[in-house]
Amino acid sequence: MAVQERVRTHYQGILDEIKKANLYKEERFIHSPQGADIVVEYPVHSKLKEVVNFCANNYLGLSSHPALIEAAKIALFERGFGLSSVRFICGTQDSHKVLERKIADFVGMEDAILYSSCFDANGGVFEALLGEEDALISDELNHASIIDGIRLCKAERRRYKHADMIDLEHQLNEAQNKRFRMIVTDGVFSMDGDVAKLDEITRLAEKYDAILLVDDSHATGFVGKTGRGTHEHHGVMGKVDIITTTFGKALGGAAGGCVTGPKIFIDLLRQRSRPYLFSNTLSPVVVGATIKAIELISESTALRDKLDENARYFRRRIRAAGFEIKEGFHPIVPIMIGDAALVQKMARELYAEGIYVVGFFFPVVPKGTARIRVQLSAAHESHHIDKAVEAFTKVGKQLGVIK
Ligand SMILES: *Cc1c(COP(=O)(O)O)cnc(C)c1O
Repeated sequence: MAVQERVRTHYQGILDEIKKANLYKEERFIHSPQGADIVVEYPVHSKLKEVVNFCANNYLGLSSHPALIEAAKIALFERGFGLSSVRFICGTQDSHKVLERKIADFVGMEDAILYSSCFDANGGVFEALLGEEDALISDELNHASIIDGIRLCKAERRRYKHADMIDLEHQLNEAQNKRFRMIVTDGVFSMDGDVAKLDEITRLAEKYDAILLVDDSHATGFVGKTGRGTHEHHGVMGKVDIITTTFGKALGGAAGGCVTGPKIFIDLLRQRSRPYLFSNTLSPVVVGATIKAIELISESTALRDKLDENARYFRRRIRAAGFEIKEGFHPIVPIMIGDAALVQKMARELYAEGIYVVGFFFPVVPKGTARIRVQLSAAHESHHIDKAVEAFTKVGKQLGVIK
């Protein structure tokens, strides 16, 4: 057999296995801007359908906000579309520096450095700051980009059980002979919507002389009283050393991420961080609109307040309908079903009712904890939420999930 044919057989086998395990991801095509009401083409029957979107990370409803679109247009005309360069050659505009200042101020840090994504920020931060003499201590449920970033770093790797402070303390103890220790955690974990225990983690970081890095991608802009993030929520602003976050979720959702922290770290990242040095700069369009997003949420908490109200309202009503949810306050609301096949059926039926949600099951979440993840947005009005609760109730009864 020629190599091409063996290759084809090999990879087809892998794809078939993915399909057999029910893990093959079919993309749906959205024929409208991102928002609460979207038009979706489901390629299986290629029919267009209007549905209410409950699975975007469009937490503040900024993805298609008129003020951001206007800011993007102005940036496009005044600074162009692309820069065709990395930052340190000829890819830094005045607006990149403005965005770095704005995001650093917003999350309460000294300085910030932009990346094309938070995936890149996490891919470039550890290797540049830590070496063999150091240790990284990471929550086992941290985002894939943190796991990959840690893989690229020569520091000793340690994992602690999810949110388990006894295990974290044990790992810190074991790493006391190292030069620097860095604790790494997601601020909010995307499958459960639970918040890292930053009150306890900051205490342990102090006790064991560790640097603390928090990835606040599911928090920046809306968690905490003024939306600064999980450190504000826990009242520990000033005690987290480094925050990485994305512009691809609440802050307009286009692209981009950053590392924020002490200037000394940021200066070094500009010299050493590979995704920063060897990848193209953020488009002026994205920069201009993201600056506008941060201005909007710095001036007023109206959007995060509305999101908060929407999350409370949905949580209260869905619980009253008889569903079991993961308790909390976050706009990620996991509706616990248990059985994987049932979850997939339910998501399909809900889609038929005009509610777009996604089911998660093993191996993405532990066996027996299959769930439907609902994500609220400030773009939702109460009628959207009412429609969702009605659809959940109807489908839930049909499938015997609730009485
Ligand atoms: C979404 C997410 C990322 C990736 O952000 P991008 O900017 O889309 O690359 C990284 N970390 C966490 C915790 C996330 O939720």
